[in-house]
Amino acid sequence: MDLLYKSTRSATEKVTASKAILNGLAENGGLYIPETIPALDMDFNEIAKMKYQEVAYLVLSKFLTDFTKDELEYCINNAYDSKFDTEEIVPVKKVEGTYIIELFHGKTIAFKDMALSILPYLMTVSAKKNNIKNEIVILTATSGDTGKAALAGFADVPGTKIIVFYPKDGVSPVQKKQMVTQKGDNTFVIGINGNFDQAQTGVKNMFNNKELKTRMNEKGFQFSSANSINIGRLVPQIVYYIYSYSKLIKNGAIKAGDKVNITVPTGNFGNILAAYYAKKMGLPVNKLICASNENKVLFDFFTSGTYDKNREFYLTSSPSMDILISSNLERLIYEIAGYDADKNTALMNSLAKDGKYDITPAMKEGLADFYGNYTSQEETAKAIKELYEKASYVLDTHTAVAYGVYEKYKNETKDDTPTLIASTASPYKFSRDVMKAIDEKYDSLEDFSLIDELEKVSKVKIPDAINEIRNAKVIHKTVCEVDEMQNEVEKYLGL
Ligand SMILES: *Cc1c(COP(=O)(O)O)cnc(C)c1O
Repeated sequence: MDLLYKSTRSATEKVTASKAILNGLAENGGLYIPETIPALDMDFNEIAKMKYQEVAYLVLSKFLTDFTKDELEYCINNAYDSKFDTEEIVPVKKVEGTYIIELFHGKTIAFKDMALSILPYLMTVSAKKNNIKNEIVILTATSGDTGKAALAGFADVPGTKIIVFYPKDGVSPVQKKQMVTQKGDNTFVIGINGNFDQAQTGVKNMFNNKELKTRMNEKGFQFSSANSINIGRLVPQIVYYIYSYSKLIKNGAIKAGDKVNITVPTGNFGNILAAYYAKKMGLPVNKLICASNENKVLFDFFTSGTYDKNREFYLTSSPSMDILISSNLERLIYEIAGYDADKNTALMNSLAKDGKYDITPAMKEGLADFYGNYTSQEETAKAIKELYEKASYVLDTHTAVAYGVYEKYKNETKDDTPTLIASTASPYKFSRDVMKAIDEKYDSLEDFSLIDELEKVSKVKIPDAINEIRNAKVIHKTVCEVDEMQNEVEKYLGL
């Protein structure tokens, strides 16, 4: 029996994994979730002996049950190969008593590569399985890292096109340069005069536009999503939590069955939700520590039970977390609402209409696995400087938010459970803010001199991803207003 996927906003829709991956979003704007979370059902001492690709197979085969073994192995082996700069794929480093899961060794040096290296393969295999003849148009909104990782994954993949919208002034210089220099005949990158939430809403509106869907179908196109709302991104993200836990066993840091905490710098709530699913599969997790920057809508939600996006939006040094609508939270809300699609839909409608919703005290009890907190801009910079001075380890700005929040958690709770911290980007991607945190004097340098200084300071070689953009030509120059997004898509596709 196949594991089917149902929608958070419909009691009736049920589809196979490959359909869910192709569709991206479910009916009525809902998100797909598996009917049950499969159990890992394997001794962690055995998992500790496995390579990353083997753990990936273990997890993916349980979730994507309509894929054959050959299909999954094809996807996994093409995704997790020499594109990564280390054979381990995900190194786990002990720094000042905590364990940093380095998720940034892929092609674009951000953790988005972990899922977006495999998504194009999952997507094209899914299209074949379902006899899809249309060209798949990947439509994506990005706060910086998804865009480049998706572009790198889908560039020149036959049968696909990829369109990326990013907030023109809301991404780091390296992030922007990485995107606008993207090669590939099937790529289109557009800056918008707006923020990430507006980009994401614009994209969601296009997904839900039935009239647009019909016209696209007539021309042989259909949309899919590379955003973390796609189950094809969420499932591959479960893998590295199980893998890094088992690495701790292998290194003798813990015994199989010992609990760990997992700290995740959070924006759209995808990465931490994957950790939660790992827990539900049987990973021994004590607390899931949800770290926010000054856009602390999740911290306030965990504290008060009210989700309220009506607030000032801050551009911070961790732009990939500058988000006020954390899309994947809907999957958790649906669950704590007792898997009740109507209840969840009512809350999401309230979010769309009034920008807020309240959960009941009973629902709030369902959040007990999570601890939320945030760091200010100063606290984030301080975390970078302190860890550098203590351990000569340079954190990127997003991971620094996680590190700062974990320190707060430890001081508050005195909990000394071993803790994994998801490191979501290489410091090279956010070199100005990182170097400024270490010493203000670096701020006078221009972007690439800063990068050379970072190499001296961190003693970590400049990644290929950075060298590639030094002299790369700008290819994508389009900028549009928020309300022109659909128009740009129609022009590009010739509708
Ligand atoms: C996307 C991203 C995040 C946030 O992850 P979510 O899954 O959206 O919560 C954190 N850090 C970096 C560097 C990212 O690119």
